Amino acid sequence: MLRRIAPAALIGAALLLGGCQQPHAHFGEPGEPLARAGDEIMVCGHLYHTGAPVVLWTDRGGYDAYRAHCHFKPDEVYPAKAGKNPSAQRYGTFRRHLPPEVTADVASNGWSLPELQEYVDLFVLHYDVCGVSRQCFKVLQDMRGLSVHFMLDLDGTIYQTLDLKERAWHAGSANDRSVGVEIANIGAYPNMNTLDKWYGHDADGRTYVTLPRWLGDGGMRTKGFVARPARNAPVVGEVQGKEYRQYDLTDAQYASLIKLTATLCQVLPRIRADYPRDAEGALRTSALSDEELAQFSGVLGHYHITTRKIDPGPALDWDRLMRGVHRALHRQGDTNRVVSRGMHGGNPER
Ligand SMILES: [Zn+2]
Repeated sequence: MLRRIAPAALIGAALLLGGCQQPHAHFGEPGEPLARAGDEIMVCGHLYHTGAPVVLWTDRGGYDAYRAHCHFKPDEVYPAKAGKNPSAQRYGTFRRHLPPEVTADVASNGWSLPELQEYVDLFVLHYDVCGVSRQCFKVLQDMRGLSVHFMLDLDGTIYQTLDLKERAWHAGSANDRSVGVEIANIGAYPNMNTLDKWYGHDADGRTYVTLPRWLGDGGMRTKGFVARPARNAPVVGEVQGKEYRQYDLTDAQYASLIKLTATLCQVLPRIRADYPRDAEGALRTSALSDEELAQFSGVLGHYHITTRKIDPGPALDWDRLMRGVHRALHRQGDTNRVVSRGMHGGNPER
């Protein structure tokens, strides 16, 4: 049952118990393994359930953005030639523009969860233009010296590549305030040339992803997974005032993205469960001004941050995402109320 208690409730419980001073009450036996369910993300060293499949950078088969060397060529350190980033580090330990006392505290003690909750208020959605997460990590880690907290593969597997306390390099100036995800999707285009190569059609007309031969099985954890866009036909829509075509995410990706987004809204509550809207309340399909971006907190696309980007493209169904997130948070809210009643009435863990 403990897994269903919200982080806020746990923090409250920890504060309440602070006076009791039973520091070793929850210690295990030497060598006792800690069981994980396989759906946990890490935030400031704390694990939180998402309800979706997650592979951490510390897991076998995971992608580790902390490594100085390349993932696919482990004897090479990026950037072997570029010299642009001599530390070979692809992320920042600090987030910028913090008050001096917070910077000093983070420098001495590392990030606390309350500090991170105060300064992270954006969840940025990207598509990866790589098609699968393995290739996405190759481009970020080995070729470009960049990073992102999460990758979401076609089969719905979420890869977390570093702790959310790190300033990953995925969204320019918004890196200071944000957590990011690269969604496996080949992207949006003015015409069908790339999409016709990347997608095929069954005899009965159903669309599926056809990976090029050089990508092999794409590295997906679900062997033999057939990736079908949630909507069979390409979605046509405007981004930054121009028309693009793009195939939708898979149902497995929506299911995991909904759970990941709901978890982030819960754990980092300044991330509001909403997206940028125009004057009529519809999805904004162009970049926000600096002032608008400064005012906004919540879930947004890379194209909301800069006019130079069009990801996550016109196909991402923001209302499907947000309906799911609100349903998940509502369920979570009901659980929290039950848990808090229990806490005042007796043992919260029972
Ligand atoms: Zn992007």
